[in-house]
Amino acid sequence: MRHPIIAGNWKMFKTIAETRQFFDALIPEIQDVEHCEIVVAPPFTALAAAAEEVDGTRVAIAAQDVYWEPQGAFTGEVAVRMLVDAGCEYTIIGHSERRQFFGETDQTVEKKTRAAVGGRLNAIVCVGESLAQRDAGSAVDVVRKQVQNGLSGFSETELSQISIAYEPVWAIGTGRTATPEIAESMHAEIRKTMLEMYGNKVAGTMRILYGGSVKPDNIKALMGCENIDGALVGGASLDPASFASIIKYR
Ligand code: PEP
Repeated sequence: MRHPIIAGNWKMFKTIAETRQFFDALIPEIQDVEHCEIVVAPPFTALAAAAEEVDGTRVAIAAQDVYWEPQGAFTGEVAVRMLVDAGCEYTIIGHSERRQFFGETDQTVEKKTRAAVGGRLNAIVCVGESLAQRDAGSAVDVVRKQVQNGLSGFSETELSQISIAYEPVWAIGTGRTATPEIAESMHAEIRKTMLEMYGNKVAGTMRILYGGSVKPDNIKALMGCENIDGALVGGASLDPASFASIIKYR
């Protein structure tokens, strides 16, 4: 059985004080939750405060990005060891906003993922097609290539620290969720791709999250799909009540 992950990606929202307020409201709501892992990704500036707030709870903290070099003259970048030091257990890698606005490629995704798992950070690696690619009928090819290019050559131990988030770009922040059927069909393709690359065991245990306008009212149907093992939630993770209700989807 794959243990689901419900992860919140705050993007460029919330100060340290707002982060503390969020967890003060969230933690009492989700104390008894055992059916999924809970992960929250605040901006870099609030990571240490967030880690302090969730200490002793079942919530894990994620960064939204990481750099692959261990240290050095890389102005503006943050290394794996620094994230671990700030209390992170996870990092998101290759979010479509990073690919679209900051030049992230499958190659940088691969380097970042290798650095993250090498430094004992769990990686949530994002893939997903644009609307133009879906309309052109190339969604499956695009996503398969992202998975093949970004996730090749990892050991079984490293792969146990990786999960994949399928986030169709046309569904992110648009209010337009993929139907459970569309999402499930791409998740099955991703699992098939992992099967071709790594065999049955890895494909069977790899957690594949869905992301794209996940809300309290659509999470249950998505989580009912065979190959959907969790969600990466943007907008709806900013409000503790709506995020708690997504976490308690059952
Ligand atoms: C995201 O940022 O990963 C995301 C899926 O955003 P939203 O839920 O707002 O569509």
